[in-house]
Amino acid sequence: MLARLCLVVLAAWLSAAPALAENHFVRDQDEYAAALRVVEAGDVIILANGEWRDFDLVITGQGRADAPITVISQEAGKVFLTGQSSLRIGGEYILVTGLVFRDGYSPRGEVISFRRNKDDVTSNSRVTEVVIDNFSKPDRYESDYWVGIYGQNNRFDHNNLVGKTNKGVTLAVRLDSEESRNNGHLIDHNYFGPRPVLGSNGGETLRIGTSRYSMFRSETTVANNIFDRTDGEVEIISSKSGGNTFRGNVFLQSRGTLTLRHGDDAVVERNVFLGGGKDYTGGVRVINRGQTVRDNYMEGLRGEAFSSALAIMNGVPNSPVNRYVEVAGATIDGNTIIDSRRIGFNVGADEERSASPSDSSFANNLLGGIEGESFLEVYDDVSGIAFAGNVVTQGGVADELGDFTRQGVAMERAENGLLYPVDPALSHLGAPRDLDPVTLDQVGAFWYPKPGNDAVFGGSGTVTQVAPGNDTLVAAAMAASDGDVLELSSGEYIVSRTLPLGIAVTIRGARVEAGAEGAVPATILFTRPYLFELREGGNLRLANLTIDGALAPDSVGNSMIRTTTYPIKSNLTVEMDGVTVQNLEVNKSFNVLTLGKSALADRVAISNSNFVNVTGTVVSAAAETEDFGQYNVEYLEITGSNFASIGGPVADIYRGGRDESTFGPFVNFSGNALADVGLAATNSSGASVNLHGVQIASLADNQVAASAPFRIVHTVGTPATTLTGNQFAATPEFVLQELNYDGDHRAARSGNVFAEEGAE
Ligand code: CA
Repeated sequence: MLARLCLVVLAAWLSAAPALAENHFVRDQDEYAAALRVVEAGDVIILANGEWRDFDLVITGQGRADAPITVISQEAGKVFLTGQSSLRIGGEYILVTGLVFRDGYSPRGEVISFRRNKDDVTSNSRVTEVVIDNFSKPDRYESDYWVGIYGQNNRFDHNNLVGKTNKGVTLAVRLDSEESRNNGHLIDHNYFGPRPVLGSNGGETLRIGTSRYSMFRSETTVANNIFDRTDGEVEIISSKSGGNTFRGNVFLQSRGTLTLRHGDDAVVERNVFLGGGKDYTGGVRVINRGQTVRDNYMEGLRGEAFSSALAIMNGVPNSPVNRYVEVAGATIDGNTIIDSRRIGFNVGADEERSASPSDSSFANNLLGGIEGESFLEVYDDVSGIAFAGNVVTQGGVADELGDFTRQGVAMERAENGLLYPVDPALSHLGAPRDLDPVTLDQVGAFWYPKPGNDAVFGGSGTVTQVAPGNDTLVAAAMAASDGDVLELSSGEYIVSRTLPLGIAVTIRGARVEAGAEGAVPATILFTRPYLFELREGGNLRLANLTIDGALAPDSVGNSMIRTTTYPIKSNLTVEMDGVTVQNLEVNKSFNVLTLGKSALADRVAISNSNFVNVTGTVVSAAAETEDFGQYNVEYLEITGSNFASIGGPVADIYRGGRDESTFGPFVNFSGNALADVGLAATNSSGASVNLHGVQIASLADNQVAASAPFRIVHTVGTPATTLTGNQFAATPEFVLQELNYDGDHRAARSGNVFAEEGAE
């Protein structure tokens, strides 16, 4: 351990070891408090290995540049702060290292705060090799920051921040007092690990400043960090102050963009964005004055609009601080952007955002879109941007950009893993050759593992055979581990209690030969108002089964699957393939799947399934009714399935409000057959498919007979709905509404046929 102290403390901090420095080895919170009372510059407080539960860890005091006050774990990664724990740092020249926050959450507004209170804000302090792992408040809409940086000249480096599921920025630099401005903070070599889709504004991974203080300079440097699957919302980074630098960061399969939201004179250089073809992966969004975006590399990005590889926005004339200051004096130079979906100029142009960029340049960029797709788009006037020396290798280019050279460019992958032109004559184009993107082993605490790429239902691989009978399925489900498969044979399975699911489990019927003698599918009947209740960590896949509601009692809110009424931190997945659901009709609103408040499904997928005699809604994702821009499902896919005699809609999705911070919901509803759907008096939407505020929807090749209409309400943003090749008999026309857009409904419609009567 002495060796490590020497390494960490001496090498990093001391030029001359202080003669009187003392080590305080502490084993519990009382001993810690005693040490804190006497700590002086140069002292080291060593926390004993083990669990420190409900630890309100505070460190303050006057260290010196040559003699900091240090709080260190006995061994790196062996001190765990759990339960209701937090860290606050006051004083100056303080170093904290080696801690892991897990199995709990902060009772405060922050997990790590670079201030003890408003009057004791730290400066010249450093937090290094500290881990915050899934230390999220239980309710996704209860907000906190994991890290709040105040003061000046603080460094936050080599830390792991992984798995934040509740609302609020992962790391926020605060400028709300004068002593926190022009701060010179350094945020480097951190691992920002997966942050799941929040389904609301407030899912940024890093924010510097706020609109209120955006006229001040922060002068923060964000360098050589990795952002891995930081999907929370449209802004991965939200720069909301002046003079910040973003250099050498790597973004891996992260939805959203580095957004220069407020404040001027940012420099964004030598960053690498690798989208891997994932939806909504973006690059840099430019707003405000004096922004420089140069020498960056982007590949495989699939975002458009706000999440384009480059989105140069239109501004609001004389913008208030919280809106969009017009782009002026931007320099966008020497970037490589290839295999990416979109570069947009004048993004967001509308009646309010009417000011085009001015006094800006866009030069020597090497650009490649997706073959056969539109790539460079222009939505307003680009005469204020000087274009020079740009080359486009493939993808459509807007007519206004006639100066762009179009030519094929042979590219090869260099040793740094990035693509460059083979022809030396083109070496001045695009990102520089000497980019050296940081790798996973160079960021975060080296002693703490980084999460892999687990499929939701991957897990254990254990398959358990379950025999028909009373509560045989209950016993098997209660004993199952994450990732298990429960396989049912032919026969009836009676379930006499609600099955609580806090794991990923697959329940499937054994394959039966079509037409084989006695080949009846496994059938589940349940005697409670709910068959499955999804809890924290719960994911459910059903396949090759029949589920029958005939034995369920009449209750309020019957649902074959529901989410717990307690908040769920993790996003969940529900899949049904080859499933028959029937006889959910003991009362007038018996749903198949109900996603409740504060629950977000990453994905609900229904395929090759049959639903017959259901009085309620098949997929109800409409619990967030406050119009805060929150919602219950990110991806809903319903394909190749039959719905007959369904009282409510097959899908009921609600995302209300005018917030533009999220990408979803996304709906694919195609190849389905509907008959007598949505006509119950209790169906308040009056629709067979009810989509309110869905951002991207495709409804194609459905056959609909004697049913309520499809209802599509567009709200904010640039919703894209396509209605193609649907056939309707004795079913009303589409009900289409635009709430924030003047003009005809923007849904693209083609090949839809409405017949008065069903074909007899
Ligand atoms: Ca935001």
